[in-house]
Amino acid sequence: MTATLPPHRFVNVIVGKRVDKPKMGVYNGGNIRRRHKMNALDKLMESARKLPEERLVELQEAADKMLAESETVPLVPICVRCGGHSIVRNGHKHGKQAYLCRDCGKSFVETTNTVMYYSHYGKDVWEQVTKDTYERKAIDRTAKALGLDHHVVFNMRHKILKALEDTEEEEPIELGEVSELDETFVLDSYKGSETEREEAGREARKHGAKASKPGLSQEYVCICSGVERGGDSFARTVNRAVPSKEELQTAFKGHLLPRSLLLCDGQSGYKALEGLTDCRVENVNAEENQDKGFYHLNHINNFHGFIKSCCRNFRGVATKYLNRYNALFSSAYQQCEAHAHNFFEIISQCSPFQRHYSNYDVRNHNLLVLLS
Ligand SMILES: [Zn+2]
Repeated sequence: MTATLPPHRFVNVIVGKRVDKPKMGVYNGGNIRRRHKMNALDKLMESARKLPEERLVELQEAADKMLAESETVPLVPICVRCGGHSIVRNGHKHGKQAYLCRDCGKSFVETTNTVMYYSHYGKDVWEQVTKDTYERKAIDRTAKALGLDHHVVFNMRHKILKALEDTEEEEPIELGEVSELDETFVLDSYKGSETEREEAGREARKHGAKASKPGLSQEYVCICSGVERGGDSFARTVNRAVPSKEELQTAFKGHLLPRSLLLCDGQSGYKALEGLTDCRVENVNAEENQDKGFYHLNHINNFHGFIKSCCRNFRGVATKYLNRYNALFSSAYQQCEAHAHNFFEIISQCSPFQRHYSNYDVRNHNLLVLLS
């Protein structure tokens, strides 16, 4: 398993994709660029890293040639209604390129089935809101920077999150090989909903507020989560407080690959996951699991730290939207991990470039000196 970037999920948010309708792809001179393009890109990068430098030059030249050829062929989408390839441009509708499918006779525009369909805002604005969502910026900050109303950005953000959640449902994250599973807790939140606050009999929590009772009470919502070492991460909320066997099975159903080793903290409920697929659950705290270099939960703990920092940046997440945000946490965390992994691959390989530094270098070379 490689540390796969999930940008295909990110791309699909923009491109738009539904289970019940043919997917929007791009038709280019006989090659259909499917949504798995980014997976293919990961594999290509993995292979390219192993090639000697002279072969890399050849690969780059071949890629440049293919790119030059593709630029001469205009990109035309496949039909969003029937998946047909006989598409012709058909003028503009509301300022957007329209297409006509010769197979089914239906027409569509470039944003049909995407989060941007019927939107008054252009691709640039949607891309910025998506970027800010991934950078965990609060909605007010995005709204202010774009000169938009809070509610407009709220709706855009939630459409993007919904698309991300749906995409993850269609292409479930699968944890395999050696994966760490554990749960983390966040305080419940009725942010933005006066009715729900009244039903819960409570005032809104102020930013940074604490639970009213000590310990793990019903005020906490559980996020069941897993991280494959060097691979994907996954988070799902099913209930409050400590999850039962059944809740763990519900959360992880369809997300565990056969023959994987699942490392947990010894909570008995996790053993029930062995009934879901042919996997083995091990308690890292068990006496026989002495090798703490292997039997640990550092990766999942890092992921939990990331989730908590995201919640702080967003100034709390309303509980009812938590699974949408869980999809974002998984996706954003994988990106950070994959970037870190790729960079480490670069700096950990022998190369003609000097990347060895002494402690003296670290303290004395290239320091920033301000003039005033
Ligand atoms: Zn069609």
